[in-house]
Amino acid sequence: MYNTCMEKCFDCPRNCGVDREKEKGFCREGSRIRVAKVIENFMWEEPLISGKKGALAIFFSGCSLRCNYCQNFQISHIGKGESYSPEEFASFLKKFDYSKYDSLDLVTPTHFSSLLKEAFSIFKPPVPVVWNSSGYEKVETLEGLSFIDVFLVDFKYHSKELSKRLSFADDYFDVARQAISFMIKSRQDKIEDGVLKRGVIVRHLVLPDEVRDSMAVLDEIAKMGKPILSLMRQFTPTGRGEKKRKISSLEFKTVLAHALKLGLDKGFVQDEDSASDKYIPSF
Ligand code: SF4
Repeated sequence: MYNTCMEKCFDCPRNCGVDREKEKGFCREGSRIRVAKVIENFMWEEPLISGKKGALAIFFSGCSLRCNYCQNFQISHIGKGESYSPEEFASFLKKFDYSKYDSLDLVTPTHFSSLLKEAFSIFKPPVPVVWNSSGYEKVETLEGLSFIDVFLVDFKYHSKELSKRLSFADDYFDVARQAISFMIKSRQDKIEDGVLKRGVIVRHLVLPDEVRDSMAVLDEIAKMGKPILSLMRQFTPTGRGEKKRKISSLEFKTVLAHALKLGLDKGFVQDEDSASDKYIPSF
């Protein structure tokens, strides 16, 4: 079935304007929602997302950012999986027993925003719906996501030069700052029984040799009302891109100390052993 919202795609800041039925934009995805992997009772997100039962995690194929060190390379760059119209995706979602999960985790959904909006207008599951995204998003697109309860969003870079080099987006900082500000203003945190029912968690992945950039990102997050922060140390070199090593303990401790100095003391910190490919799902 043809989806008219995909005739000229402006879902993300790449603003390709392509007809996704006929050609591919930067995300390389077409006019149907493509799901690369589903993991039930997924426990690898922050405890406020996974809860006790785990999330129903849906990993989408393709990506509008395509970082060159991506740990989900098989699905974000190469693209694979079952495809669905919005109506079919709503039917797919209806098949699950939501008493078994604490959230529905939509992983890398931005380039399917218009299609997912249609799907969730047909069916919204009775658990918090989590938008797990890169932060490289348009406010006008986010404004249409009223079905989303929780934003689990990356704030990756401050430097234009760095975001261009690693993610082909020299406007990343300005775009993400506006997107995350909107998310924080539009979703007040509400936690019940150890699960974030509504709200925002801002993630930052510390990269090797980029401590100064991490600190600049944290400076910006602290200006945004001190949201729940998830400081991540799981970067694992994949052999692609320029980053060839894990971060050191000193790098992580330096960034963590800066976060605490800024008063960003609400949230999560990953253990050292998170930097391992055993935490990368097999796609
Ligand atoms: S979602 Fe894909 S096709 Fe649409 S603007 Fe973004 S990168 Fe381009």
